[in-house]
Amino acid sequence: MSTTLPTYDDVQAAAARLKGVAHRTPVMRSATADALLGAELFFKCENLQRMGAFKFRGGYNTLAQFTPEQKKRGVLAFSSGNHAQAIALSARILGMPAAIVMPEDAPAAKLAATRGYGAEVITYDRFTEDREAISQRIAGERGMTLVPPFNHPHVIAGQGTAAMELLEEVPGLDYLFAPLGGGGLLSGTLLAAKALAPQCRVYGVEPEAGNDAQQSLRKGEIVKIATPKTIADGAQTQALGDITFAIIRRDVSDILTASDAQLGEAMRFYAERMKIVVEPTGALSFAGARHSGLDLKGKRVGFIISGGNVDLASYGQLLAG
Ligand SMILES: *Cc1c(COP(=O)(O)O)cnc(C)c1O
Repeated sequence: MSTTLPTYDDVQAAAARLKGVAHRTPVMRSATADALLGAELFFKCENLQRMGAFKFRGGYNTLAQFTPEQKKRGVLAFSSGNHAQAIALSARILGMPAAIVMPEDAPAAKLAATRGYGAEVITYDRFTEDREAISQRIAGERGMTLVPPFNHPHVIAGQGTAAMELLEEVPGLDYLFAPLGGGGLLSGTLLAAKALAPQCRVYGVEPEAGNDAQQSLRKGEIVKIATPKTIADGAQTQALGDITFAIIRRDVSDILTASDAQLGEAMRFYAERMKIVVEPTGALSFAGARHSGLDLKGKRVGFIISGGNVDLASYGQLLAG
């Protein structure tokens, strides 16, 4: 591989850049949750991060390392989800132009939120146009730097700071579960865990309908699937990247899955028992661990709650079950 893999040193450098910029999110406990699994559970609440998800960490860490020339030209991203808002907010904080390529039929609330952070939104027809081609063309014309959502060493290092904070605050974790889409969050989590808690077993949890990472791990090569149908819209990725796959393959204990029904159940638990709003993708870690069949009894177990951005109308429907 041509790219060198990021290391824990990069996670520490990211933490220094994010200090005073990202929130140090709380680690929540719940006696009811402990009783449910017969274990000591620690929830790292990235649903309470700026813009509502951990993605701010990776986005900001990447943009903060732009050269003066890159900063002047600005950043481009294609995403209809949390990556878009992470890039838009980071660009605003760092005072650089941002353009986000989003499908023209993306939810109005998401288009508005991205514009609200001061980014230019460029829409395309997702049935007839290819977003990567459009993004490449615009980036070329304007000299903007394209930032991918997960397969980038600076993005991965930034995402790792969430687990770093959790492991600093809660020593001696036996298990740690993280949601998994393209693998930026899990890769960063693995870098932090290997350095701070080498005995801790780290698992990624992806949607049952889109278990490409699980298949990739079993096969020993990246498996690409069709866009999965799942309520976990932050993990509808088709494949891991070469960098995320290399780290995950090297360091992960295993990859689990959770069904949409199990995600709904976990979201209800968070709302009812812990009084927190968690988006479907953010509920993957708890849902996957709860139904994994792993013997967690008496263990110290950490969960990354990755985000809390969910449209209120669909949130209501999901909670009603
Ligand atoms: C992007 C995202 C994920 C998946 O992260 P990857 O780095 O792509 O694996 C999980 N949860 C939320 C809330 C996200 O926005």
